[in-house]
Amino acid sequence: MPVILTVAPTGPIATKSDNPYLPTSPQEIADAVEEAYRAGASVAHIHLRDEQQRPTADLATAQLTMDLIKQRCPILIQISTGVGPMVPFEDREKLVELKPRMATLNPCSMSSADYEFRNPPAGVRRLAARMRELNVKPELEIYDTGHLDVCLQLHKEGLLADPLQFSIVMGAAGGMAATPENLLMMVSRLPPGVTWQVIAVGKSSLQLTAIALALGGNVRAGLEDTLHLRRGVLAEGNLPLVERAIRLARDLELDLATPEQAESLLALPPQL
Ligand code: ZN
Repeated sequence: MPVILTVAPTGPIATKSDNPYLPTSPQEIADAVEEAYRAGASVAHIHLRDEQQRPTADLATAQLTMDLIKQRCPILIQISTGVGPMVPFEDREKLVELKPRMATLNPCSMSSADYEFRNPPAGVRRLAARMRELNVKPELEIYDTGHLDVCLQLHKEGLLADPLQFSIVMGAAGGMAATPENLLMMVSRLPPGVTWQVIAVGKSSLQLTAIALALGGNVRAGLEDTLHLRRGVLAEGNLPLVERAIRLARDLELDLATPEQAESLLALPPQL
């Protein structure tokens, strides 16, 4: 079975002062996504920034970014509804109205460094139901074991369709630490028939990505997860990180999924 490579070109926090190669405008993000697609990525996980590089859930910015990407390549677009610090949940959830093929769904609130990542239970249920109505596939971001349990409860309530798609997020402030033990424990708790990848933030990103690939997970790469290619060396854009993930997969004799294959592996619901 081929592995799905997701590029995450820009996250919620870092700015160009942390890494000058970080894409922040719709144009720059679309350029980075196209490069990653040409290298082998089949999914693009997208965060948006305003002109001051602050995270935004502005619908016009999101639409423009999606349009620019679609003009360039057939990669599957996954919009982050996590967006970033200080953006209200009620603004974040509106992003799914643009009907990306996928969007993230964060099942629980958490304290992350000095801000509150707010995902209130009623809002999460409302968003899950709306995504189901719009045929937007949720990528379930679980930062701890309890987050997985909440997703399984939502599934039981009929708010999430099979097969469930998980991202095991590790090394983010307030979530589980990025250790091989934690990854093995989380994978062992996943129910059968789901798809998953690891999102390992920071310096353990490469090691945990390698372990996840060897365990049968999908793979994600990009400046959202790490700004560095190796210790003390900034990645000069997303492409070097994407190419490194591709090398890892190829060395493990894994093929990369095309967007069409990813669509079928993830069982994305068709959209009109
Ligand atoms: Zn993200």
